[in-house]
Amino acid sequence: MKLVKLIANLGYGSRKQVALMFREGRITDAAGEVLYADDRVDHAAIRIDGEPLDPPAGLALMLHKPVGYTCSTKDAGRIVYDLLPARFRLRSPMISTVGRLDRDTSGLLLMTDDGQLLHRIVSPKSHLPKVYEATLAQDLRGDEATLFSSGTLLLESETTPLAPATLEVLGPRHARLTLTEGRYHQVRRMFAAVGNHVEALHRPRIGGLSLGDLPTGEWRILGEDDLTTLF
Ligand code: URA
Repeated sequence: MKLVKLIANLGYGSRKQVALMFREGRITDAAGEVLYADDRVDHAAIRIDGEPLDPPAGLALMLHKPVGYTCSTKDAGRIVYDLLPARFRLRSPMISTVGRLDRDTSGLLLMTDDGQLLHRIVSPKSHLPKVYEATLAQDLRGDEATLFSSGTLLLESETTPLAPATLEVLGPRHARLTLTEGRYHQVRRMFAAVGNHVEALHRPRIGGLSLGDLPTGEWRILGEDDLTTLF
């Protein structure tokens, strides 16, 4: 791919703007030699104003989503893309969220521009466990774990029962729930089905990948090791 296209696709500007950056001599190789728009140079060797380029296409990252942000690309309020570098929103292919977390849910959100990876994670066939910690409005009744693991629970206005889910009681109003599917507002609706209400919801883990000590609102690029851990 010609450099002008490669750099524009990374969100540094329109092709016209990037062409101007070349004319200004801002785009060089690692040794400081000026590069030209039609050159074909390895991604790792390119510098803009002396800085290495953002990661190439095939990017996957994890974000510690705070409460109050939506997973949409456009919303009158705050969106998860506000937490990434502004350039990331202009990349082609675009970076999408892998599934969604509600505005009021915090925790591990994966994002990628890799369609195959996205499919591998969200596909119902992947059965990737998603772990949630819920704080509830009322004490647990005691029969929730049996009901949730039964594979027979029907959510309101649905006709297919939920796949078995695992509930661990962490306290009278605090539970960890592990799901292998991702239906709309699933955790909140499951607790509503047993007469409770989720007051706070957090997702610390997907598959083998945990947030670890990533602070709220921060993100990091995932490497091969992380993806191996995930699956
Ligand atoms: N289930 C919910 O109810 N909300 C989420 O954000 C994720 C799972």
